Amino acid sequence: MTTASRVLVLNSGSSSVKYQLLDMAGPTRLAAGLVERIGEGTSRLVHEPLAGPAAGGGRRERTGAIGDHREALEAVAAELAADGTGLDSPELAAVGHRVVHGGTRFTEPTVIDDEVLAEIRSLIPLAPLHNPANVTGIEVARALRADVPQVAVFDTAFHATMPEHAARYAIDAATADRYAIRRYGFHGTSHAYVSRAAAKLLGRPVADVNVIVLHLGNGASASAVRGGVCVETSMGLTPLEGLVMGTRSGDLDPAVVFHLARVGGLSVDEIDSLLNKKSGLLGLCGDNDMREVLRRAGDGDESARLAFAAYVHRLKKYVGAYTAVLGRVDALVFTAGVGENAHQVRQAVVDGLAGLGLAVDPQANAVRSPEPRVVSPAGARVAVAVVPTDEELEIARQAYALVAR
Ligand code: ADP
Repeated sequence: MTTASRVLVLNSGSSSVKYQLLDMAGPTRLAAGLVERIGEGTSRLVHEPLAGPAAGGGRRERTGAIGDHREALEAVAAELAADGTGLDSPELAAVGHRVVHGGTRFTEPTVIDDEVLAEIRSLIPLAPLHNPANVTGIEVARALRADVPQVAVFDTAFHATMPEHAARYAIDAATADRYAIRRYGFHGTSHAYVSRAAAKLLGRPVADVNVIVLHLGNGASASAVRGGVCVETSMGLTPLEGLVMGTRSGDLDPAVVFHLARVGGLSVDEIDSLLNKKSGLLGLCGDNDMREVLRRAGDGDESARLAFAAYVHRLKKYVGAYTAVLGRVDALVFTAGVGENAHQVRQAVVDGLAGLGLAVDPQANAVRSPEPRVVSPAGARVAVAVVPTDEELEIARQAYALVAR
């Protein structure tokens, strides 16, 4: 009898599902893909078999109406079946679900039963943009393979170790408790994976290494990790706090909100949308894609230059703050779309921070590679590294570890 070792990882958004099928015996990525524009008329499914019976078969793409998440998952199941890696296989050990908000209840990956699902649903007010789609994804996957364990892996979980003095906002304690207002942090799966991979890259035990991780994608967050334990992160109650992001403002004086309401006459929903969807790089210069910001800044565009400078300035402030929080930093690690690809951002963040032991070697920093790598000069006091993130692998690992006991 073979031991089931495949894990399907699902990342369900409001109108999209990203997925990967992994065989944890390798681990080997068997297939990856996404369904987008679900329920929006013309949906698109992109599927690529990467290993296993259909390896090398190439990317398949099809468009057509996919009305809801159930149809989307059925379409994914059909693609996987065509590859000979169908979800009805006894090889499927678990389905791992990315769940954005775990509140204070979920600090570990958790096998989903009715009670857990109800609890995830009850957290919707804390993550109204994300948890509803996560719940839907869980419901449809459970309906498809009721016999296979469904595991929730929470974006907030890695940050649950933050000390109270870092997790608390300095507001009235009773009010905070009543409304579950505290700093939760997000991108935890990425921060966990990258901080561990950085220790491996340095050839040192995780427990001995202090790391600052900068996860710079569309959303962006920083974390301070001491010996594998997260002690501080930049996102808070929601993913709005902290760094300048693609479309989010990050930190601002909360009184900006009162001012916009009282003086500008904006509603709460309008302010929410302004700060989450029309701010950050987009708000400052009209583009949220760092590639475009860099191109325009290179052409001398003033607003793009300002956006880049504001983005980098905020990062420097966090690097300085987290150096103080950790006391000793062994590595500053860049990850996600911007962190992995934009050497200009890495260079600009460490510029002028030689006093903190931070520098990059321009040649090493210019190298583009999918591999984890050190980009600081030989003998630097603090290693500066680029570690590509792999949230799907981390979710699969955590889910598999839970069910394969
Ligand atoms: P998400 O948060 O959506 O997972 P990613 O981690 O994929 O985001 O990062 C997406 C962002 O990465 C894009 O918006 C873009 O700004 C940036 N990016 C991707 N490639 C490059 C590149 N070569 N140079 C600069 N920025 C890049």
